[in-house]
Amino acid sequence: MPQPRKLSSSLETDPAKVNELLVGLPDVTVLGAIRHADDLVELHVQTNASVDGCRSCGSLATLKGWRVVTFVDLPTFGSPVSLHWHKRRWRCPEETCPVGSWTEVDERIAGSRLRLTDRAGRWATVEVGRNGRTVNEVATVLGCDWHTVNDAVLAFGKVLVDHPDRFGAVSALGLDEHLFVKAGERRIQHFVTALVDVEGGQLLDLVPDRKSEAPKRWIEERGAEWRRGVRSGTLDLSATYRSVFDEALPEARLVADKFHVVRHMTAKLDECRRRVQNETLGHRGRKYDPLFRVRRRLSMAAERLDAEGRDKMLGILRAGDPRGDVQAAWWAKEAVRELYEVHDPVLAGQFIDELITDMADRDWPVEVRSMGRTLARWREPIIAWHDLRISNGPTEAMNNLAKRIKRVGFGFRSFANYRIRTLLYAGKPDWSLLPTLSIPG
Ligand SMILES: [Zn+2]
Repeated sequence: MPQPRKLSSSLETDPAKVNELLVGLPDVTVLGAIRHADDLVELHVQTNASVDGCRSCGSLATLKGWRVVTFVDLPTFGSPVSLHWHKRRWRCPEETCPVGSWTEVDERIAGSRLRLTDRAGRWATVEVGRNGRTVNEVATVLGCDWHTVNDAVLAFGKVLVDHPDRFGAVSALGLDEHLFVKAGERRIQHFVTALVDVEGGQLLDLVPDRKSEAPKRWIEERGAEWRRGVRSGTLDLSATYRSVFDEALPEARLVADKFHVVRHMTAKLDECRRRVQNETLGHRGRKYDPLFRVRRRLSMAAERLDAEGRDKMLGILRAGDPRGDVQAAWWAKEAVRELYEVHDPVLAGQFIDELITDMADRDWPVEVRSMGRTLARWREPIIAWHDLRISNGPTEAMNNLAKRIKRVGFGFRSFANYRIRTLLYAGKPDWSLLPTLSIPG
């Protein structure tokens, strides 16, 4: 008989207590365990709650029997765990009481709606929602299916993202559209509108379309005080979002997002190039067509072209652009970019007015005149950038995060699920609240 080693008295050595300590569930007795051939550990427990009272009449309940309910729990020593909870069935002894019988509940172990234990559900929510792991990865670790994990992440996630303190006052609000899914055989495009705290870099919410109604309602639901705090609003060159701000936040100063302004001008240049291509050669761009060969140089920022690249571009343009339309559109696009190099707001105002007047000249190609009209229509929001220096940059960053979620959660069809997953990742929920929040029944 080997002599047992003398151990520090603070260590638990009673095997039953060691079991409970390892299992770590509150007020639970471990009944037994089996390790299956596939390494799944089946763990049987019951609670120590040996008495219960009727919730209606308060009588001491009598034990009616047992019901075993199975949950997916956290892995133990690298193996997935199936928790078999032997729940007591209680009965009210009062014959006149309407309650009859019930099954014991303990939300600390598991709620009634999810197939994950409470702690496994919270862990899965952090892994998927905060760390951006896929639902599949987490399901593999837990040894369960995709839906079991996804249901838990959505249930806990909803409480976190809809917590009233997730965001407070916002002084600069950004609106931006982005693509939600292109799912199904017909490749239908679904757009959603992202609402962003542009200064804090926080995704505030997503609403399910890019029309004006949903974002407007969202803003109105924040209340009058919140709305008064919004001093400025950033947007792309969208008349829809402009009307949202005009109607829901009439005091906010609008700022046209710099990135979208330049992108719009580049798109007009491209439109011009394709038109001239078609008019001169009668077909769409082919590999050796001059205008097709310069298409990338045209959309590049001019300062990124060296002198040689620029000469080459102008040379090719002379061959493919007999009336100089494309060159004019290129000049116009570059002029708008230069507008952002002017730092003084007053000078910027003079510059944009010159551009608006100049581009209205009937000698210019239609695309340049269209650019000029856009500048005129958006003059104030474009120039406001020179005062406020805010852009939808953070919105774009949020969109990139949202795209990441879209990639990892390719099964998304439901907007509500997509919203929760995206806000968990990019909406800055207070993760320190997670251990204390409970899921509404
Ligand atoms: Zn009763």
